[in-house]
Amino acid sequence: MKLFEKAERLKQLPPYLFKEIDRKKAEIKAKGVDIIDLGVGDPDMPTPQHIIEAMKRAIDEPANHRYPSYSGMNDFREAVARWYRERFGVDLDPEREVVSLIGSKEGLAHFPLAFIDPGDIALVPTPAYPVYHIGTLFAGGESFFMPLVSKNKYLPDLKEIPESVAERARIMFINYPNNPTAAVADLSFFEQVVAFARKYHIVVCHDAAYTEMAFDGYRAPSFLEAPGAKEVGVEFHSLSKTYNMTGWRIGFAVGNEKGMEGLGAIKSNIDSGVFQAVQMAGIEALQGDTSCVREMTQVYTERRDIMVQGLRDAGFHVTSPKATFYLWVTVPEGYSSAQVTTRLLEEAGVVVTPGNGFGGPGEGYFRIALTQKKERLAEALERLKGMRF
Ligand SMILES: *Cc1c(COP(=O)(O)O)cnc(C)c1O
Repeated sequence: MKLFEKAERLKQLPPYLFKEIDRKKAEIKAKGVDIIDLGVGDPDMPTPQHIIEAMKRAIDEPANHRYPSYSGMNDFREAVARWYRERFGVDLDPEREVVSLIGSKEGLAHFPLAFIDPGDIALVPTPAYPVYHIGTLFAGGESFFMPLVSKNKYLPDLKEIPESVAERARIMFINYPNNPTAAVADLSFFEQVVAFARKYHIVVCHDAAYTEMAFDGYRAPSFLEAPGAKEVGVEFHSLSKTYNMTGWRIGFAVGNEKGMEGLGAIKSNIDSGVFQAVQMAGIEALQGDTSCVREMTQVYTERRDIMVQGLRDAGFHVTSPKATFYLWVTVPEGYSSAQVTTRLLEEAGVVVTPGNGFGGPGEGYFRIALTQKKERLAEALERLKGMRF
C-alpha cells in the first residue's frame, strides 16, 4: 500500500462533471471576458440587516463563545418548532424532534451514517443535489437511482422500484421544490411516499431547502404535513437560500424522534454544534420580520419572468417554475448539455450548468440560477440573441 493511498470511498466518488466547464471558465476569464455567471445556486443578495444585527449582539456575549450544545440551543429548537406550527401546521417536540445543523448539507451527508450499513440501499433521485448519493457512498451503502423525468413531472415513479430493491432499501431521499429541475410536489405525492415507506420500512429524508422560495402565491408543503409522515420521515431545512445565509452555515433537521436520535449520535461524535451566535441569528431569521422573504421572492419573480420570456424568444423551451431560483432549460435539438453549455460560455461569456452534471437523466437540459441582477440577466439574453442553434 502506498503512503496516502486513497480510501475506496474516495476512489468511488463519481467523476466531477463540472471540471471541464470550470477549466474553460478560468481560461475565458483570463482573456478578460466579462463573464455572467448563472451557474451557482448561491444568492447574490446580502443577509437581511436585522439578522446581521442579532449576530452582532450575540457575538459580544461571552456565554456564546463556549461549546454549544450538540443538538442545538433550546431557544433555537423552540423557534424551529414554532415556525413549523405557524408555517405548516405541524407540531414538533423541540427537545426530541429538532436538531440544529451546520447547514443542511452537513445533516444530509451524515444521516446515512446513522441508518445505512454496508450493502444497504438508499433510493436516490437523479438528477439531484449530489450529497444524497455521496453520503450513501461514504456510509458504505449503494444508491438505487430514481430517474426524475419530464413525463412524470420530475417526481420519482415508485412503481418502477423493483420489490427486491425496495426490500433492501433503508432510506429514500426526495427534494421538493426541487434542485435542479425546479419541480414541485403536492401533498398527494407525499402521501404516496408515506404509504410506500410504511410498506417497505424505509426512512424518508425530505430535503426542503426551497420551500420558502415560491412564487405567484404558491405555498410549498412540508413532507410532515402528510398524515403519518412523522412515523417514517425526517425533513431537512436550511436558512441558506431563504435568508441569503449560505456562508453562515446553519440549518436544521426535524421529524421522527428516532431519526433525530440517530443523526444526533453521529453528530455528537464528529462535530460540536453550531456557533451559538449564529443560532441567535437563526432565531431572528425565523421569528423576526419576514418582509425580507417577501421582498426577495418578488426580486426572483421579476428575474424569472425576464429570463423565461427572453429564453423563449430565443427559441428555448423552458417551463416557468413555481418555486426555487432555478430554470431547467431543454437544450436545442441536436445538442448535448455539454455542447450547449460550452457554446454559451465561449460565444456569450454566460455560465450555466449542464444538466448531466446532476446525473444521467439530466442530459438534454441545462440549469440557470437566477442569482444575478435583472440588468445582468438582460445582458445575458442580449448576448444570446446573437447566437444560432
Ligand atoms: C443549497 C442546497 C442545500 C444546502 O444548503 P446548506 O444549508 O447551505 O447546506 C441543500 N439541498 C439543496 C437541494 C440545495 O440546493
